[in-house]
Amino acid sequence: MSPSNCWPNSHRALSKLLIPIVAAALCCASGSLFAQVSNSPAEHVIEVSLTPASGQIEIIDQVRITGRENYAFRLAPWLDIESVTLDDRQLKVERLGDHQYVVALPDSKSHVIGFVLRGVVPVRGTQQVTTLSSSSGSDGVYLPGYDAWIPLDEAGLIRYRMLVKVAAGERAVASGKLISEQTTNKQYQATFEVTHPGEAPSLFAGPYRVTERLSQGLRLRTYFHAEIAGLADDYLAAADGYIRRYQESIGEYPYADFHIVSAPLPVGLGFPNLTYVGRQVIPLPFMRTRSLAHEVLHNWWGNGVTVDYSSGNWAEGLTTYMADYALARDKGEAEARSMRVKWLRDFAALPAQRDQPLRDFRSKQHQASQVIGYNKLAFVFHMLTNEIGQPAFADGLQRFWSKHVYGQAAWADLQAAFERTAGRDLDWFFRQWLQRSGAPRLSLGAHSVEQVAGGYRTRIEILQPVTGYRFKLPVLLATADADQRQEIMISDTLTRVEFVTPAKPRYIHLDPDSDVFRRLQRDETPPILRDVTLNPSAITVIASTDTGFVEVARNLAVGLMDVEPRFEALTALQNADQPILFITTSNNLAQQLTQLGLEQLPELPDIAHSAAAWTARRANGAPVLVVTAENALELRSLLRPLPHYGGQSYVLFTAGRALSRGLWPLGRGTLYRDLQDSL
Ligand SMILES: [Zn+2]
Repeated sequence: MSPSNCWPNSHRALSKLLIPIVAAALCCASGSLFAQVSNSPAEHVIEVSLTPASGQIEIIDQVRITGRENYAFRLAPWLDIESVTLDDRQLKVERLGDHQYVVALPDSKSHVIGFVLRGVVPVRGTQQVTTLSSSSGSDGVYLPGYDAWIPLDEAGLIRYRMLVKVAAGERAVASGKLISEQTTNKQYQATFEVTHPGEAPSLFAGPYRVTERLSQGLRLRTYFHAEIAGLADDYLAAADGYIRRYQESIGEYPYADFHIVSAPLPVGLGFPNLTYVGRQVIPLPFMRTRSLAHEVLHNWWGNGVTVDYSSGNWAEGLTTYMADYALARDKGEAEARSMRVKWLRDFAALPAQRDQPLRDFRSKQHQASQVIGYNKLAFVFHMLTNEIGQPAFADGLQRFWSKHVYGQAAWADLQAAFERTAGRDLDWFFRQWLQRSGAPRLSLGAHSVEQVAGGYRTRIEILQPVTGYRFKLPVLLATADADQRQEIMISDTLTRVEFVTPAKPRYIHLDPDSDVFRRLQRDETPPILRDVTLNPSAITVIASTDTGFVEVARNLAVGLMDVEPRFEALTALQNADQPILFITTSNNLAQQLTQLGLEQLPELPDIAHSAAAWTARRANGAPVLVVTAENALELRSLLRPLPHYGGQSYVLFTAGRALSRGLWPLGRGTLYRDLQDSL
């Protein structure tokens, strides 16, 4: 798999939803590291000497190749090939293209190609360094496997044993099992090994304090910077708890170690048997209580079983469902429901042209793909659980795990596992939810209530204008003395249902707990920030004459919008129906808003604040996101936090700290009908 398939080109800083892992192992190999099998994966014996602060690196890599006529590889542009040998004889490599090389082999027997490589890992803060590329600095070195800092075999999977040396004050950690380590006055060195064919090693080093916890035969460690080292025990206890939880529900943890490594970068990344998390993020409560669970679970979904990307990425949605959503459900049904409603609101904010079928989701490149590949997909797993029942769902996952651990799996494999445990065909389910974009729409048609022998008969029509969806729809009929709940199978555009109840009906509510993935109607969706930020036709208006404020506002728009912002003057927008991002100073706000036709201002919580973001709708229905700040400095303090509140209707800030946030109250919506006066 090529890394570009699995990694975002751009990654938003301090992402709360962490992004996935690149590949892992393909088959369950056993025996010696260097068993000579025809066409076997390349086997590397690597020695790395590294100085994190300067980025100086020297790599000696002995690569055993078996069953091939040549060895084609890629190498990071900042590395120089100092020498190459083939079976101990000097050799010249042939350059194929940009940082692509090939070594011709005399035959397909087993050969060892020896590399000596030297270079400087790009220093953070310089131009060629992006968040996800290799980087160095006094606070740590980041060398992700996909960046080809050892010869990266484009054929894919490798095995390795790697010795890493750093100065005594530093620590190094890599994906793979920690085999041994040694500290002397001058040096720290550690050896890592991967015997199941997997992805190239990812290596991390820096001025880390290491804390260890041994549990159930596993070695759990934190590699934290000094200022957060005090959080290590809480993190290790939490990781231990998550690993136990997923072992119980899925199957044995597939590695020997799990490490949590503090990153100088604002990221949250998963690699086999470790997670790399921004040092500023680690102290935030959501990281340990939620995001860590998500990262731990990626050791099963995404690494233990890798994704066959040709049919789409099933791992993010499944991880979101079993980690983020399951933790919400632990707190009670109300929390779980509010997460589902949030996902539906986010989907309602997604313009049709940015929607895509779940099968087409590969990785999170922007917020729009998160709404699909994480949220909608997690919702689909919720519906699958309701469709086949919790026991069949749980058994299906265990079956899927035991069949595909250390291998790669596609959607069809998941479907097969669930069909087996449910004992029936689920093709219709996977087809309708994976291959189509969009979602069902629901509304109520005509209804009648009449008195009959034994009580009251209520008839009602359920309309589904989008054809071809089939799902179970929960219906609640409330009467004077009891509530009746039923599940109705919806498959046609018109479904007529009838209830007979002893007591007089009060109201009927379709999908009262939001268990069906559907497109919410306008009156069910109070505007949220994403109604504006996800929309490519949105227009940004900056209403200020202060040049300093305008400059910060332009930067804020770039960070906030999920698409390139379009700037316009307010005067051009009197009747515009595009969404508007409106950024202004707090002082003459009322007058400005009148020009937008927003005389009726929403009621914000009565809390003193110096900056705010809130949403409203113009008379023509177009959503407006208003961002106000007392001055340029307060506005600047929103640059980092505000993009994380896309699912809210309002947020109040002082000095960049969110004081209050929330959603405008919901109408009961079109799926609720009062029946009291219907007789
Ligand atoms: Zn993830």
